[in-house]
Amino acid sequence: MARLLVSLLFLYIGYRIVKALFAKKSGREPVPAPPAAEDTVQDPICGVYIAKEDAVVGTLEGTRHYFCSMDCLEKFRDRLDHTPSSNSGGTA
Ligand SMILES: [Zn+2]
Repeated sequence: MARLLVSLLFLYIGYRIVKALFAKKSGREPVPAPPAAEDTVQDPICGVYIAKEDAVVGTLEGTRHYFCSMDCLEKFRDRLDHTPSSNSGGTA
């Protein structure tokens, strides 16, 4: 009997989590998120992982980029200035 209750509880919790996830997904912005990490993004400059909420967002050439700080954003802009649009990205 108790076991049944516990499994029901787990089902309920799972249901709540799934519901919360879906609620998050249908947010305000229709930005297509990468399938792997939804809440964490990698700073292309220093390679650090940051929560999207805390990241500095820079929109460059129509693409959104996330940085740990304004410093990295400026470095990224600098790089774009110096390298003529041949970008062999280093995503691992
Ligand atoms: Zn950084």
